[in-house]
Amino acid sequence: TGTLYLVPTPIGNLEDMTFRAVNILKEVDLIAAEDTRNTQKLLNHFGIETSQISYHEHNATERAAQLVERLKKGESIAQVSDAGMPSISDPGVELVHAALEANISVVPLPGANAALTALIASGLVPQPFYFYGFLPRKKKDVQEELEALNKRQETIVFYESPHRLKQRIEEMEKVFGPDRRVVLARELTKRFEEFVRGTLAEVKEWTNSEQLRGEFVVIVEGNDAPEAQEEQDWATWPLDEHVSRV
Ligand code: SAM
Repeated sequence: TGTLYLVPTPIGNLEDMTFRAVNILKEVDLIAAEDTRNTQKLLNHFGIETSQISYHEHNATERAAQLVERLKKGESIAQVSDAGMPSISDPGVELVHAALEANISVVPLPGANAALTALIASGLVPQPFYFYGFLPRKKKDVQEELEALNKRQETIVFYESPHRLKQRIEEMEKVFGPDRRVVLARELTKRFEEFVRGTLAEVKEWTNSEQLRGEFVVIVEGNDAPEAQEEQDWATWPLDEHVSRV
């Protein structure tokens, strides 16, 4: 049987492609890409002539089954997403499941990833950390998620799109409080890379004054006193509910 390689690609700076990643992409029989046109630019840049097939969130299940058939016949396949690590807020997990189920060896390559790159320069405690990825779209779901996250003591890492960033920081300020520290890592590895560090109240001010373009990782410090927080929650409960709970 063939091997399934999981190959990270740059998150902005093409020099972050590793030698090994280039070699694997050259050597495999097929590259399964989230967006073949996007990946073609990368392949052209590195003189890689391997053919591609699409593998994205809309065809993930059926395509994974097809790819596993090819792996069983002895072809080797590399899976890539548009940027960074496959499977990290990106397509990949269905293919990994299908391959493992079929006893095919799955070989991951290390490489670019926005969350860890942001975390190590954030200045916030790097471990333990909690990788969340993208918050849900619906306002009500966001509120629920943030309330659950509010109890966590780990540093929390989010991905966010630029047009939702301002609203998200406001929502986080409401749930986590204005004094919680936050770091925005913008356009990592690119020309306009920038870190914005402050409290949620300060960073909210910043989002009001800036044109929010580019890509962002949002890192929030953990709750350093979740128990105190809980006591406070109880103290402010309506009396009848409080009584019936005890
Ligand atoms: N698989 C990727 C990884 O390993 O980091 C993440 C893909 S996810 C669809 C895209 C999100 O990652 C963006 O919305 C942004 O939050 C973050 N991101 C990707 N590249 C970035 C960059 N150069 N600077 C800051 N954030 C980035």
